[in-house]
Amino acid sequence: MICPVCGNGNFSQIAVLKERLIQEWKLSPEEVEYINRQQGFQCTNCGCNLRAMTLADALLKKLRESRLLKDLHRSKKFRDFKLLEINHAGGLHPHLKKQQNYTFAEFPDVDIQALPYSDKSFEIIIHSDTLEHVENSLQGLKECYRVLKNGGVLIYTIPIVIGRLTKKRDSLPNSYHGTQEEEQGEDYKVWTEYGADFWVELISAGFNLVEISTIGNLDSLAICATKTIETNFQIKHIDRIFVFLSKIRKTAGRGIKKYGVFR
Ligand SMILES: [Zn+2]
Repeated sequence: MICPVCGNGNFSQIAVLKERLIQEWKLSPEEVEYINRQQGFQCTNCGCNLRAMTLADALLKKLRESRLLKDLHRSKKFRDFKLLEINHAGGLHPHLKKQQNYTFAEFPDVDIQALPYSDKSFEIIIHSDTLEHVENSLQGLKECYRVLKNGGVLIYTIPIVIGRLTKKRDSLPNSYHGTQEEEQGEDYKVWTEYGADFWVELISAGFNLVEISTIGNLDSLAICATKTIETNFQIKHIDRIFVFLSKIRKTAGRGIKKYGVFR
């Protein structure tokens, strides 16, 4: 494996999860292991963790780019794309901001639940482990959908506990990421523990193509949600349905005459 951000081939591992969060989230030893890899397996050169590397790889795959993320701003194809990064996407931030059509939105100046941009403004939106900290995450995704152009893509990560379903923490004690303590403030508070049904929220927000990308295993998942050019697709299919229905109607009409139904 090489780091898709900088090309380095050496990595180190640190334990990120603390006992408090493991207890609050009732994580099994296997879950602790893959979440620690996701958050604490890191490139010894650029410092990106597995989560950031997976996100970089998902973006490169989506753009069909063979270069490293650090060189992506040199890509002619990518240069014209309008890119929105919502909060620092870990170690990707210094590289993404070199993009010529780049916008950075950071909480609390910009709230993902009410983005201050016009409809259909961006080709690409990126955020990393942000959505679980948003009170109304569905509204956040709806806003991403709104400001994406047709054919645009949202690429992001969230911590997913894959063996269970998504759980809102509204009625549970407060739980925090980062240092995993209250003192850091509400920015780090977790509102949603995502599970295997994370995609339901994306479909509800309007996205009609959802893909999962990995650079190895279940410990490295990035989500790509595309706003496909729905009108053309739907009109084409609705036309076909009408043709099909009119054929049925004609056939059924003949059947009625032939067999004398309702006579
Ligand atoms: Zn690296």
